[in-house]
Amino acid sequence: MGRLDNKVAIITGGASGIGEKMVDLFAQEGAIVIAADINEAALEKASQKQNVHGMKLNVASDEDWAALAQEVNERFGKIDILVNNAGISSEKPFKEINAEDWQKMLTINGFGPFAGIKHVAPYMAANKQGSIINISSYTALIGQGFNHYSASKGAVRALSKAAATNFGRQGVRVNALFPGIIETPMTQTLSTSKELLGQLIQATPLQRLGQPNDIAQAALFLASDDSSYITGSELVIDGGFSAQ
Ligand code: NAD
Repeated sequence: MGRLDNKVAIITGGASGIGEKMVDLFAQEGAIVIAADINEAALEKASQKQNVHGMKLNVASDEDWAALAQEVNERFGKIDILVNNAGISSEKPFKEINAEDWQKMLTINGFGPFAGIKHVAPYMAANKQGSIINISSYTALIGQGFNHYSASKGAVRALSKAAATNFGRQGVRVNALFPGIIETPMTQTLSTSKELLGQLIQATPLQRLGQPNDIAQAALFLASDDSSYITGSELVIDGGFSAQ
């Protein structure tokens, strides 16, 4: 028996990194998984997996979200789980960030999860149950110099609390995860500098970088009924980096 048997899950950014790992794990645990991503080529690979359906979605588009939520609900009869995982990052220094950079970052990383909740939570509420997991970042908790990226992840943190408050009485839970540095295509530039990599590992109490599975396992717990009394909570998964 799987921990997500008979559940229907949407995972954004499901074609790469953390999202791809969650897609695999959730499908293994019995869920029907919709891997939603802007990268159509990568989605073709995802769609070949058992119980996985790749669907194109630009999280920044209200219209895309409305259409996706409706289609998933019609095809599979309900939506139980939403993981707002898709995102972009940037290490641009403060003085180089302009209004356009800010808007793009906040639209994809902030409005994306907001629009996901706006369009998906009503389908969950209609069944009086659902679990939404938002992927924030340790950079929302400490001033680590990611500037507009950190700001966008701070928005995700606050949004999670607001949505937990809004939808709790309708049976929908909303929680947030705060990954540290996880080895994925997003952070692959780090691995090109052995020195930087060594410094980061040294600075982490648990003495290693995170892996997509570290995040996927926590998301699985929050998606499953094992966490049925948990909403509005925050889980930091960074090997102790931000605890120092
Ligand atoms: P990744 O770059 O490997 O994957 C991101 C996925 O999101 C890609 O498949 C991409 O196509 C998709 N995407 C980007 N823009 C999109 C859009 N507009 N609409 C739909 N899909 C879009 O990144 P990752 O490392 O797996 O990151 C996943 C999430 O975890 C992100 O929200 C990221 O900010 C967060 N996070 C990552 C780390 C890390 O160290 N890797 C740390 C903290 C938080």
